[in-house]
This record gives sequence, structure tokens and C-alpha cells, in this order.
Amino acid sequence: MKKYLFLVAMMLIGAANMNAATPKKQAKVTPEAKGVASINRATAEAHVNFLACDELEGREAGWKGGRIAGNYIISCLKQMGLQPLFEDGYVQPFEVCHAERQKKGQRWEVHPDSIAKLKQGVHQSLDLRNILCKIEGKNPNEIVIIGAHYDHLGYDPMLKGDQIYNGADDNASGVQAVLQVARAFLATGEQPERTTIFAFWDGEEKGLLGSRYFAQVYPEINKVKGYLNYDMIGRNNNEANPKHFVYFYTEAYPMFGDWLKNDIVTYGLELDPNYRPWDKPVGGSDNGTFAKLGIPIIWYHTDAHPDYHMPGDHGERCNWEKMVDITKASFTAFWKLANEKY
Ligand SMILES: [Zn+2]
Repeated sequence: MKKYLFLVAMMLIGAANMNAATPKKQAKVTPEAKGVASINRATAEAHVNFLACDELEGREAGWKGGRIAGNYIISCLKQMGLQPLFEDGYVQPFEVCHAERQKKGQRWEVHPDSIAKLKQGVHQSLDLRNILCKIEGKNPNEIVIIGAHYDHLGYDPMLKGDQIYNGADDNASGVQAVLQVARAFLATGEQPERTTIFAFWDGEEKGLLGSRYFAQVYPEINKVKGYLNYDMIGRNNNEANPKHFVYFYTEAYPMFGDWLKNDIVTYGLELDPNYRPWDKPVGGSDNGTFAKLGIPIIWYHTDAHPDYHMPGDHGERCNWEKMVDITKASFTAFWKLANEKY
């Protein structure tokens, strides 16, 4: 009997040794991991440094620099082979109007009724452009949108010294994220479950005009199941904590918080988010447009800094490593928004 047990023990040890000798199988690379691997710093710097260059004169909506920024984004989408959202191309043109400039307390209007009223008198008018593309989902009856505004404040020839509001952080950083996430979707090699729309909003600085126009007229707005927003993901607001950023999300969806917690561990991201579940996330940026319609949102933001809405919002002041890790974390979130139940 004892001898028998000894033999069994030897066989088990032998089996264990054999296991140890067998080379470990490489863990299967998931589509999500393939997407994460495609996101990098060189791409972030290339997009941000072009969009924030002095020659684009601060990318004011409706002005030359803003239009060149839009043309650049269109070229990037075309190069990646992404399909325009609408049949006639990537551009969704729209008009906004404002009262004659000496009238106080006025704002830019995008609603047709308000525009019709303004047009009865002396008024200002600008032609703006949202830029939109999509990846068709297996289930096109459900849609998710990821977006960032690409306009900024322009320039002021009366300023002494630097006259250009370059807007590297606000919001070239967000534009590079949408572009990299779009490429990451292609890098997964898989068709998403839901149709995904990649949006570049115009006129955010003049009152969320681009996202508001889109929400007014998009015939399939009722199919939208989630919206992910970027506004300023490039800076440190406290040099002592360079990993800090604010993660806003609709409070009724606690899994949005769990996704980020898990993905920071899974992908080894150097991030220290301030989790801000928000019952009605209607303020701050284009997320407000969608939150007002009851659509759950996620919004990434690296917080205030002294160059916010100042000519000093320059590319060389960005924390590129953090920008890249936030882009990775947001790709995994948007991949889940496009594929998982929530
Ligand atoms: Zn902004």
C-alpha cells in the first residue's frame, strides 16, 4: 500500500515537472488590447502640434484657421478609410447667428426659430462645420458617439505680446484622442456591436453650437445609447500630482467607474483619476448637450490651469504621457460602450 502511494506521488511530481518544462502559452491578445497597443505619444504630438500651431491662428469657429483645422481632420479620417456619417461627406455644415455686436447680453444662436428672429434685424452670421464619420455596427439600431470640439478662441490683434490662443490643451488634446480612438477601433480587427460615430464639434467655445446643432437635426438621435466627451486632457493642474484627471460620468451607470478602475490595472496606466459620478452632467462642455437628452455620458478632463483660455495654452506645456494614457483608458471605455451591456 505504501509503495503504491509512493508511486502515485512520484507520478504527480513528474506531471508537475513536465508542466514546468512546457513553455507557457502566450495569453491570447484580445481585440481591446490590440486597440490599446495602437495608441502612442508620437501620434498625439503630431496632431496636437499641428492643430495648435500659430499658423492656425487659434482655430476660431467660422474663421480661416478653424476651417484649416477641419480640413486636416477630414484628411486624417480619409487616410484611415473611415466612412462619412452622411452620404454627402464628412462635413455637416450649419449657420449660426448673433445680434449686431453692440447689443449686450446676446449669444450665438443655432436654433432655427432664434435664427429667424435675428434675421429680421441687423445681425452677424457664421458658417460652421461639424465633422463626422462612423463605423457601422452589427446592430445599427444602437449608436454610441465619441466627440471633442476642435474650435478655439482665435486671436486678438489688440493683445500686447502673444496674440494667438493656440488651444493645445483646449481642445487639440481631445481631437487627437478621438482620432487615435478611431484608429484603435480599426486596429481591433473586429466590427463593433453598436454603430460608432466619431465627432469633431465646431463652435463649442461660442456656446456648444456644433453638438447642439447635431442633436437638433440628427434623425437617429433616439438610438444613441452613450456619449463620450473630451475637453482638455493635456495638462497638470498640480505639478505635485501629474497623474491627476477628473473622470465625470452619469451616476446611474456605476459600471463606468468600474471599467476605469479595472482598465488602469489591466493596462498598467499611470493615472490617478478623481471619480466624479454626477446625477445630471449637463455643464462644462458638449457632454451637456447629450446629458440633457437623458443619454449617459463619460467626460475626461485634466482640470483648470493658469493657461486655460489664455495665449499660453501651448503644446510644449502638455503632459504627453498622461494624454496618451487617458486616450488609452478612454478607448477601452468606448470599446465597452460600443460592445457591452449597460
Ligand atoms: Zn474646450
